[in-house]
Amino acid sequence: MTNHKNPDSALNQPVPMELSEIRDGINQVDYELIDLLRRRRELSLNVARNKELTDNILRDQNREQELLAKLIKLGKDSGLEANYVMKLFHAIIDDSLTIQRDYFQNKINPEVDLNKQRKISILGGNGSYSFFAAQQFFTSKPEKNIFLGCDNFEEVIRTVEDGEAEYAVLPIENTTSGGINEVYDLLLNTSLSIVGEEKFQVQHCLIGKAGTKLEEITSILTHPEAKRQCSHYIAHKLNTKIDLQESTAHAADMVSNSQTTVSDKNSCMAAIASEETAKLFGLEVLEKNIANQKENWTRFVIASAKPGKASLKLPCKTSLVLSTGQKPGSLAEALLLFRDQEITLTKLESRPILGKPWEQMFYLDLEGNISDPRVKSTLEELTRLCRFVKVMGCYPVKSLAPTRLTPNQLAHSQANVDKPLVTQHTSKPSARKSYHLASREHNPHDTIIEVKGVKLGGDQFTVISGPCSVESFDQIMACAKHASEHGSTILRGGCFKPRTSPYSFQGLEYEGLDYIVQAGETYGMPIITEVMNTKDVQRIALQADMLQIGARNMQNFSLLKAVGKINKPVMLKRGLMSSLDELLNAAEYILSQGNLQVFLCERGIRTFETATRNTLDLSAIPILKQKTHLPVIVDPSHAVGQRDLVIPMAKAAKAVGAHGIMIEFHPNPEKALSDGPQALRFEQFAQLMRDLYPSIS
Ligand code: PEP
Ligand code: MN
Repeated sequence: MTNHKNPDSALNQPVPMELSEIRDGINQVDYELIDLLRRRRELSLNVARNKELTDNILRDQNREQELLAKLIKLGKDSGLEANYVMKLFHAIIDDSLTIQRDYFQNKINPEVDLNKQRKISILGGNGSYSFFAAQQFFTSKPEKNIFLGCDNFEEVIRTVEDGEAEYAVLPIENTTSGGINEVYDLLLNTSLSIVGEEKFQVQHCLIGKAGTKLEEITSILTHPEAKRQCSHYIAHKLNTKIDLQESTAHAADMVSNSQTTVSDKNSCMAAIASEETAKLFGLEVLEKNIANQKENWTRFVIASAKPGKASLKLPCKTSLVLSTGQKPGSLAEALLLFRDQEITLTKLESRPILGKPWEQMFYLDLEGNISDPRVKSTLEELTRLCRFVKVMGCYPVKSLAPTRLTPNQLAHSQANVDKPLVTQHTSKPSARKSYHLASREHNPHDTIIEVKGVKLGGDQFTVISGPCSVESFDQIMACAKHASEHGSTILRGGCFKPRTSPYSFQGLEYEGLDYIVQAGETYGMPIITEVMNTKDVQRIALQADMLQIGARNMQNFSLLKAVGKINKPVMLKRGLMSSLDELLNAAEYILSQGNLQVFLCERGIRTFETATRNTLDLSAIPILKQKTHLPVIVDPSHAVGQRDLVIPMAKAAKAVGAHGIMIEFHPNPEKALSDGPQALRFEQFAQLMRDLYPSIS
């Protein structure tokens, strides 16, 4: 044996190195790894650029599986365990997908400036779960995030509606406690759109000041949702008070600012919140993982005033809210549409409709992009079956589950790369009318509007009646009584009045609305009133059963869009100088926003004739009935402007097939604050009703 080393065995018997030398070597490898990861990212971005030019979609699971299998084999040959290689590459592939997803999304939403600061409204302040979820969502340029902490969900939404913030981050469901009802209800009435989602693993802990002893805790502070999710743990804390706070961050803040020391046996506070929150408030984790379920995830939605677009390259979700008719099987019929088109529903939640006992709103999430013709046509089909369909948003799905290999695939890593993953549905663009949802072609069946048991449309002839304006409580009560006693089923009365002169009576506004609501309730009649301003839509819709868009606002497109987002029937009056086509396009504005309960009203148009206030275009009725499935009524009062002429024209409206009429009457027309000359006297109205419905005596 010599001291000379055999060169062949040099690898097996490495020369001992200095520790610093070894560390330098490791550092060098790490730098190279970083550089390699950077280069891999660049290549990934180029893949996205390339996919943009082709039909390829973001995720090619077959290619991912093939790649993973190859790498695992390579790793094995180099002595690296499969699990280790798999974990590393899951992270790397995930990064690639995120890079590519952001690339596609930024391309399709160029107006979103990533270099600008973004204000994000959340429940609670820094340290709340919403805060962490938002941080997780807005990862690109996190230094641009500015958080606006709110005390409740309503404020989170309102601050974005008012333009104080650009995004609202709202928890919508939890894997332990289910849907968060308050948020669902708020989403129904907001004009915001969902532009993204985030899934956040909520790991509830009991946190407190350093040194807190578990047995000495007298009260636990937390948010009601966290309480629900930790109900089993709390059930064992018999002598502890549960003190509900507006957010978990606020609870942690209270504990950290409490004046009592940990040795104060009478008042020892702890909070349920996350470990990160504990750190943020200088508290300690006293007990970990106290939620009922270990896998406790909360899904958040990100809402914004501007609807975002989702790239067709990405796996997307579309969130809808709908209400079906009260017919047996109507929900099943709606759901079958999705089955027939092979569209997967990932969520179905129902919430009661305020003011309509036992009627439900359904919230659906489906896998698919609203710009995909297959999804588009399914949603159009849905408008035939529903009373209300609102698309809340279409956005890329959050968690793209990492590609897994089955043991079989691990052994034989031949994946079928040639088979396309998704067959893109292609349909030729069809020549369309400027309006579609309103057309008979779209829905051959008459739309029937039903509110509080009163029907309008189909074979019905419905009389809407009341004064031009609500003038006082007594006046509207007297009108409601008279209308209901003579067979009129819907009560009208203007509270916001569109008047030619700014000096004329403008209406009692919300005070008048309270009066007519009370009158309607007293006499069991749904009420209709005009809305003139976008900002009043939500508030009026909360109280009124139906909304009226007046002739002067027929082409107020922002107002039309706003009433299109609510779930109350809308009467759209024909504009003073509008063609029937323009009327139908105006209706389309409302329908296209999701509100399918629209009916039209012919109220006379401007012509050269001055003998009447306007000229009643009666031929509009049979023409509209051919062109649209929406109910059509006639307002002879505003058409002719003189009470004695109103009566024959009301009868004529019935004769030409209108679905109803709207008539103005007044207890004392000479004293009326608006449109007195056209208001029928009570006796005239009673006689007209007897003539219209011969069986009523
Ligand atoms: C009304 O019905 O109160 C009204 C103002 O009518 P129009 O919008 O048709 O003038
Ligand atoms: Mn009037």
